[in-house]
Amino acid sequence: MSLSNEMRSLLSTVQVELPTAASAQVFPASSPVTGEQICELPVATIGEVSKAIDESVAAFMVWRSVPAPKRGELIRLFGEELRANKKELGRIISVEVGKVISEGQGEVQEMIDICDFAVGLSRQLYGLTIATERPDHRIMENWHPLGPVGIITAFNFPMAVWSWNAVIALVCGNSVIWKPSEKSSLSAIAAQAMMERAMKRYQEANGPLPKGLVSMVLGLRDIGEALVESPKVPLISATGSTMMGRQVGMRVAHRFGRSILELGGNNAAIVTPSADLDITVRAAAFAAMGTAGQRCTTLRRLFVHESVYETIVTRLKAAYSSIKVGSPLEDGTLVGPLIDRGAFHAMQHAIAEAKAIGGTVTGGERVSTGADNAYYARPALIEMPVQDGPMLHETFAPVLYVLKYSVLDEAIALNNSVSQGLSSAIFTLNMRETETFLSVRGSDCGIVNVNIGPSGAEIGGAFGGEKETGGSRECGSDAWRGYMRRATNTINYGTTLPLAQGVEFNV
Ligand code: NAD
Repeated sequence: MSLSNEMRSLLSTVQVELPTAASAQVFPASSPVTGEQICELPVATIGEVSKAIDESVAAFMVWRSVPAPKRGELIRLFGEELRANKKELGRIISVEVGKVISEGQGEVQEMIDICDFAVGLSRQLYGLTIATERPDHRIMENWHPLGPVGIITAFNFPMAVWSWNAVIALVCGNSVIWKPSEKSSLSAIAAQAMMERAMKRYQEANGPLPKGLVSMVLGLRDIGEALVESPKVPLISATGSTMMGRQVGMRVAHRFGRSILELGGNNAAIVTPSADLDITVRAAAFAAMGTAGQRCTTLRRLFVHESVYETIVTRLKAAYSSIKVGSPLEDGTLVGPLIDRGAFHAMQHAIAEAKAIGGTVTGGERVSTGADNAYYARPALIEMPVQDGPMLHETFAPVLYVLKYSVLDEAIALNNSVSQGLSSAIFTLNMRETETFLSVRGSDCGIVNVNIGPSGAEIGGAFGGEKETGGSRECGSDAWRGYMRRATNTINYGTTLPLAQGVEFNV
């Protein structure tokens, strides 16, 4: 069966209808597995985006007054839909963005996990009470929702990133509007359909939900820009490249809106003399090659102590040559395709630049599957003489740069001396090295791991990074606060009016 037919059959199994492409403007939905076009999708008009925003504002006015645990019930039902359709949804992701089967399934599991988290959170949106300096007074904090939240997502987590944002935003009392990546809109349509089914079931038991509570607008970057420019959208959560985040962040700040920015990474790991080498090689190999190097947390730089350098590089090269590159839909494949031709050329460009400054390259060549428009590449491992050139940038492909170090402080300085600050790891059994890496003198990233790779994360922690990664957090811990506004309330239950700081004002 062609992938186009397989995708249509998957969508029909989960009872998802494709929007008809009657609109004047369309864009292609393709599969990187074979490079074939699956269908064309209609681009939303600017009028449709404005309508979605207005409906979202109206929906928020109703939803904000629904008790939070009741809002959690909608997310509980959404989680049930995901559980019931996990296999098909995971395969839709695999066909549309080329993830191997277990990673496609893993992405849906991550959505289920965040639903569970959000349902619990719906009973835990706590504020503080604070001791006051005045008698018979109380200070407390109250958390309120913001309004419509615009969610702009990247292709590489085509469903999960939206769900991290949407379910937390919804239990907090906001409405949401999604602009998915133009490279993964079929996955988005399927995920949105699961939410619509959950909303239908919610309404059967609980009465009507406002129209436009959870909406989606399809299209290219100008559709994202329309959300970004609207003063009716108080929060934009944008996931993608640093270039996109720089534009979005500045525009939202210009209108005094809020943004959550989850941008590019250039993640490193340090291998110290005491490292458990079996764990290190396995962790580094998965973190660098998994998802064909197309995770924001992919391992891109490896600093190895000179005493274990030869062993690590030899073992990594063996791991690199043993993995199967090919169709993500076949058993045994560990590395699927790059998303498109542009990604393959960016990879080749980075390899050429690394060679020009003295890098020694293993792998990196195109792997033919017989499909001209599909871009598969053997992951590249590049031994570098210095940290320079392409090592300082994120190339969204499986390229791992390896560099030798002799003193831990030097390796930490290398870890920190790039403009991105997402994820990092140290492999060591030495307590001093561990604690130094975790301390203020250690890694400057948002994610700092010990004896596991930098790639991937569980939903329980706050996810995000520093510097050009955007400085925001989403997912677990207290990241929900980013979707709410804080009101500080001072209440006087006494019979006099003492002023703060002992100020006297007698009238
Ligand atoms: P991208 O920046 O090309 O596109 C991301 C989204 O932004 C798309 O929906 C696109 O249409 C939209 N967009 C682009 N320019 C815009 C603008 N000016 N205004 C409004 N919307 C705009 O990213 P991509 O290629 O889809 O994804 C890969 C990138 O995403 C990598 O850099 C990766 O590190 C990053 N990423 C980061 C995280 C994270 O959590 N930090 C997670 C996943 C991906």
